[in-house]
Amino acid sequence: MAIVAGLLAVAMVCMASRRRSLYRCRGCVSIRHESLWQLRVWGVPPLPLSRVRDEVRLSHVARNLMPRSHRHDWVMGGRSVHHVLGLVLGLSASGRDVRNEFTWEYERNAEFRAYVQARIDAGDLAVDDLAEVVLLPTMDQEPDNQSPAARLRDRLLDAYFESTADPIHGHGGVH
Ligand SMILES: [Zn+2]
Repeated sequence: MAIVAGLLAVAMVCMASRRRSLYRCRGCVSIRHESLWQLRVWGVPPLPLSRVRDEVRLSHVARNLMPRSHRHDWVMGGRSVHHVLGLVLGLSASGRDVRNEFTWEYERNAEFRAYVQARIDAGDLAVDDLAEVVLLPTMDQEPDNQSPAARLRDRLLDAYFESTADPIHGHGGVH
């Protein structure tokens, strides 16, 4: 009996896998990882072995620019299934990336964040206006070049890249 139970336990461990799903908030571009252990037997729907575990990684946008009233709006960004031994059993990246030109730069570039913050501190930029820039169309959507928020985005990115241009070889250098 103990042997049967042991074999069953081993078989169950062999069929266990972890499903990981990635979501990104359409507004503040924060990331949420959802993971769930499952028992996968061919031909049968996966059986959950654990509770769904959520891990939210707040973006810089969420921490610095979004109003307190912001509610996350999660969009699936991809899913993977890993066997208990680490093998990847399935991958799908059919989801969308909801970043736009501004949030993409803001998340990856600490200097750009410092530049934006300095302009906010100087009273030159309003956080409320930036919250609208954050919500501009994503890079795979129909671009918006006309709205006040779109014009603010363009002015801000242009001014930033100009400020970082090489003073000798870049634009506006001494001739
Ligand atoms: Zn959010």
